[in-house]
Amino acid sequence: MPTLSDLLQQVEAARQEAIELTQALVRIPSVNTGRHNEPPWPPTGRPADGESYPVPIVNYDATGSVPTGDELPAAELLRERFAAEGIDAAVYQSGENRGNVVARMGTQGARPKLLLMSHLDVVPVEDRSQWTHDPFGAEIAEGRLWGRGSADMKCIAAAQAMAMIVCKRAGLPLKGEVVYASCADEESGGAYGFGWMTQHYPEILRADYAVNEGGGAPIRTPDGLIYPINTGEKGRLEARIYITGRGYHASQPWRADNAIYKAEEVIRRIRTYQPEISTDIDLFRHLDTLAGVTEEVTNENIDRIIADIASTNENLASFLRAASRMTWVASMINAGVKSNSVAEKCQITCDVRTLPHQSPAYVQQELEKLLGDLSGVQVEVIETSVSNASPFDHPFTDHVMAATRTAIGRDDVQFTPGITVGFTDSRFVRPLGNIAFGFMPGHPDSDPSKSGAHNINESIDLETINTMARFIVTLIWETVAQQD
Ligand SMILES: [Zn+2]
Repeated sequence: MPTLSDLLQQVEAARQEAIELTQALVRIPSVNTGRHNEPPWPPTGRPADGESYPVPIVNYDATGSVPTGDELPAAELLRERFAAEGIDAAVYQSGENRGNVVARMGTQGARPKLLLMSHLDVVPVEDRSQWTHDPFGAEIAEGRLWGRGSADMKCIAAAQAMAMIVCKRAGLPLKGEVVYASCADEESGGAYGFGWMTQHYPEILRADYAVNEGGGAPIRTPDGLIYPINTGEKGRLEARIYITGRGYHASQPWRADNAIYKAEEVIRRIRTYQPEISTDIDLFRHLDTLAGVTEEVTNENIDRIIADIASTNENLASFLRAASRMTWVASMINAGVKSNSVAEKCQITCDVRTLPHQSPAYVQQELEKLLGDLSGVQVEVIETSVSNASPFDHPFTDHVMAATRTAIGRDDVQFTPGITVGFTDSRFVRPLGNIAFGFMPGHPDSDPSKSGAHNINESIDLETINTMARFIVTLIWETVAQQD
């Protein structure tokens, strides 16, 4: 029977394989645009005289998007990879060219059961000319693997797969079960991915424990290394603000009530809104560890504390700001149908992120308070993700901490509960009863601000891929392996 150090040696031996698997996944452009059939904007070429540029027609679904993704080839690649190692694997197709891959080790139904989560889709590349490396080339340079999805999150899908492969090759006996699920559509709401899987195959995903993206980026402080374990996430909603004016021929604009000009005041109020401050979540009881804050943190002093932290650690300060309030931001605006008519209608769409205690009704009420006195302005709030959380004070936390110390080979590490200020697929599996943590530890020397996730020049350092594979192997050893 292999020992843990045998397993970790095999992870080192498979270091290059993990990198190559990440590369193979990055080279599959599983781009989730959240829309389709959209002509380029602005269109190339001038419109004919007397004609305006065509307005892009986008067919949105109820959540405001038409998901694409094309994850099936990536799911198939992983399935073949698992099958070649003798690991049970299957692809569950949720739509045209949309695939979810599941691999299983151990006895089905045996406990404890550990779920390894990842997603196969990536966000689009907006302007390729701004990238220093081909976004789908998976080039290696400066100790990093470059490309869209390298950090978010094909490196994790690959590291988790390699960890299972290493356990299988070593013949590690399991008392429980390990389930690997890498799914489609995370970037557009999960209706074809974990959302679909929890609806159709909840028994596959129901587990004692789960790990997913969302946390684990190391924070270096003067007092040592800290890893946040993200136990929960903020909610995400969309607020649509409809502004109605009165159109008229653009040659006599004073006879119109221009919806675009009416939007000006709406935008000003949205931009300058002061959200309620809250330091309710666990995280704020751990600021002594996280940032050496010795005073008691309150709703009243948190902004001053954040300002102090900002002078030395901008990333942490920005994160704490997002964790202590609801945010909203205008992210889309649509108005007008023709350049020679004054706009009759204007729609402003806002992205809204709520704290655990804030409901959609609260958001609606805040918007009505803010805009209620303006004529011709209506507000609609659409919920895409409820805020959700797992407990930090749980034996699984001890396993995760122990596995991290082993993976990075260091004891001088502290852990704090964190909250994901975006949302992840974890929200689908928490209601099944899983203790799900957004946690995949980066290498202690890695710089998370370089990842470029959802940005240009996305990349992941090669050491982090290896660290994550070591972490998963150790976590399997800690939780599911037969150790005697
Ligand atoms: Zn992601």
